[in-house]
Amino acid sequence: MARLTPTLLSALAATALAGCSTMSAPLPEGVSTEAMAIHQRLMTIDTHLDTPAFFDTVRGYDITARHDVERDGTQVDYPRMVEGGLDGGFWVIYMGQGPLTPEGYRAIRDTALIRAMSIQKMVAAHPDKFELALTAADATRINASGKKIVYVSIENSYELGEDISLLDTFYKLGVRMAGPVHNGTNQLADSTNPGELGMKWGGLSPMGREFVKRANQLGIILDGSHSSDATIEQMIDLSATPIILSHHGADHLNEHPRNAPDALLKKLAAKGGVIHMNALGSFIKPLPQAKERTDAQAALRTKWGNPNLIPADKYEQYLDESNALDKQFPENRATFEDYMQQVLYTIKLVGVDHVGFGADWDGGGGLDGFRDITALPKITARLLKEGYTEEDLQKMWGGNVVRLLKAAEDYKASLK
Ligand SMILES: [Zn+2]
Repeated sequence: MARLTPTLLSALAATALAGCSTMSAPLPEGVSTEAMAIHQRLMTIDTHLDTPAFFDTVRGYDITARHDVERDGTQVDYPRMVEGGLDGGFWVIYMGQGPLTPEGYRAIRDTALIRAMSIQKMVAAHPDKFELALTAADATRINASGKKIVYVSIENSYELGEDISLLDTFYKLGVRMAGPVHNGTNQLADSTNPGELGMKWGGLSPMGREFVKRANQLGIILDGSHSSDATIEQMIDLSATPIILSHHGADHLNEHPRNAPDALLKKLAAKGGVIHMNALGSFIKPLPQAKERTDAQAALRTKWGNPNLIPADKYEQYLDESNALDKQFPENRATFEDYMQQVLYTIKLVGVDHVGFGADWDGGGGLDGFRDITALPKITARLLKEGYTEEDLQKMWGGNVVRLLKAAEDYKASLK
């Protein structure tokens, strides 16, 4: 065998990568060549990609490298977007809830601004692969150019502190979708997981109502995921344009705080809104875990702390231990079919104009048979099998959310 020089090796790797979307990667289970061709033709947008949370870790995250979900748990990168036919999404500025104090507000504001910048830096570093999307029309244009669509969204607007004008700043940094709250009721709204403040506001706070108004004026889509049902209902009533639930479930098959009851989903749809279906296992069905597993996980956390803070030279050892734990005490997971039952139920309830996909990749989503974005063609194949048309699929795979952004833009324009 001829010796391979490093240059030749990287040339070979590049060739393999360029061909992987059409040639070398095997089709996901149950996906025919025809279904894959349709999936590749569609413009696919996931409305909740948590991947930017990795951008500011001590190790950083190479979005152009193909990672292995079974090794490091990550679910989104450029090579896998190509392989799974994911054309883009809303890349999330997620901030955990902290104290409602001037110090807390200042710290989170700075962290959130850094995250917004990190998303821009990721795009700027790979101008041949990604482009920042700022308007509804940008989605089709960027998709036609062969690049991946990067819309930016906010999950938890805690970082606005008591200054609503900061929403304008985030708009200027590209934000086109924003939700008021995450885990823990904050200054804007009650959370579905309210924590110590409880359901303090009975929905939106006075500032939360200002937030809805300002988002409408700026042309930002309002996102009700993580909000309490009362908050969601008030957002639907108050917002001048249809709202989204960017990564959410339906109560009918599994009653859970992060899922919405049928009546609320119907109200959402009646006002033109959309629910994007979450693939986080415990929202889909109850998933009790073995005590041995939760104990071992607690011990691993005590030993290593926050994985985002583990430096590169120690990270492989951490992954070895984490993988050994998963092997010894496997996770009780929901399956792809469980997910599809929720999806199919919701489509039947509200119709193809009001459903989409926001699987919570890199934020807790992922199931047996649906471990990372390379499995996305399975959704297309399964829905085709149910009789949905390519036109229906295009609505759910991105058309609906782009319609919401257009409505937000049109409302903003109407104010001038
Ligand atoms: Zn979330």
